[in-house]
Amino acid sequence: MSTLTITQASCADDYDPNSMPVAKAREVIARFLSPVTAIERLGVRAALGRVLAEDVVSPLNVPAHDNSAMDGYAVRFADLKSDGDVVLNNAGTSFAGVPFKGTVGAGQCVRIMTGGVMPAGTDTIVMQEHAKAEGDKITVGKGHKKNQHLRRAGEDLATGQVALKRGIALRPADIGLISSLGIGEVTVYRRLRVAFFSTGDELVSIGTQPAEGQIFDSNRYTIHAMLTRLGCEVMDMGVVRDDPALLERAFKDAAAAADVVITSGGVSVGEADFVKALLDKLGPVVFWKIAMKPGRPLAYGKIGTAHFFGLPGNPVSVMVTFYQFVRDALLKLSGLDPVPPLPTFKVPCASSLKKAPGRTEFQRGILTPDAAGNWSVRVTGEQGSGILRSMSEANCFIILGTDQGNVTPGALVDVQVMEGVV
Ligand code: AMP
Ligand code: MG
Repeated sequence: MSTLTITQASCADDYDPNSMPVAKAREVIARFLSPVTAIERLGVRAALGRVLAEDVVSPLNVPAHDNSAMDGYAVRFADLKSDGDVVLNNAGTSFAGVPFKGTVGAGQCVRIMTGGVMPAGTDTIVMQEHAKAEGDKITVGKGHKKNQHLRRAGEDLATGQVALKRGIALRPADIGLISSLGIGEVTVYRRLRVAFFSTGDELVSIGTQPAEGQIFDSNRYTIHAMLTRLGCEVMDMGVVRDDPALLERAFKDAAAAADVVITSGGVSVGEADFVKALLDKLGPVVFWKIAMKPGRPLAYGKIGTAHFFGLPGNPVSVMVTFYQFVRDALLKLSGLDPVPPLPTFKVPCASSLKKAPGRTEFQRGILTPDAAGNWSVRVTGEQGSGILRSMSEANCFIILGTDQGNVTPGALVDVQVMEGVV
């Protein structure tokens, strides 16, 4: 994709980069994402969370044999009577892993347990609750259906069928499913490499005493954690001072080493011009003011071959822009296809919320059930974009769309859960 295309995306489609709608910014970013193609082979246990690069095809039938879904007796349906009892001879047993060896003849049945292979000659299972045993004499009544309580060979998966599709991130159930097919290794995409650094003269890292006016850098730690959750290979490049020469070096080093470069700070009014001038030399980057709160300034583009996300400096804005723009982009770049949306649904809001129309707001909320099990959401107190505690206390975003005004208690609002995600 060319410089021209990104530049066009920022202005030519009637969208003002100074008031970029959230959905439009996502759409533009999505156009430029080319997923990793390099692959590697991994043992199935090591593949948890990784993205499958090839379909997993079943080399066998699952289950491998017709077998019983119940404890009971394997019978020949033709032996049963539609209007009364029949007495069958128990010819042996078929237990899970220890099948009956012979063939079942007329008037015979076999004691069978769940998972036991259907003996040759039988076609129907009678549950043990519906049979009466006296020594080897098994009495079975009427009312049974042919083939009842059978699990057919290949009914879960037939030989040659796709068990798991390329493009999914492997979950514990998938790891078990792969193992159930006797497959020990899978082909996955290599991890996405993401380099990141914080910008700002006021920042010090943990272990250094802040001088007056200085603060501890928290964004780098938050970003490290968010990237780790997403399964990325992370490269922490530290704090870079607001110095053009140092920043240029850092951008170049990061872009050379990683698939994606993420920075925080330096994209707000006042600082953007200086970073913008610098990035103009290195690649096509657009600076947007997104019509959202928090997280208004955002830079996106390419530095060399690397994708670049310039996040705002405020700690809450960093997290909100990461989850609303960067997360999906990183998952797509990792090979996930399709990228599943974060679960979002409507619940009653217990708080009254202030909201100005014209922008999307991502307020931090706490979703809880009442005693009857009905869920509602309340807001986590002060919503300032520097108050990281509002993210820490929250378990969801309350998403208030562009046209939405103030919210009165009891009204339905959209929430997006963070559990297991953030
Ligand atoms: P900026 O966008 O660089 O103007 O930063 C906006 C606000 O976020 C300022 O108050 C910064 O001090 C603060 N900030 C910027 N970077 C960080 C960081 N890495 N950790 C904590 N706060 C930061
Ligand atoms: Mg700054």
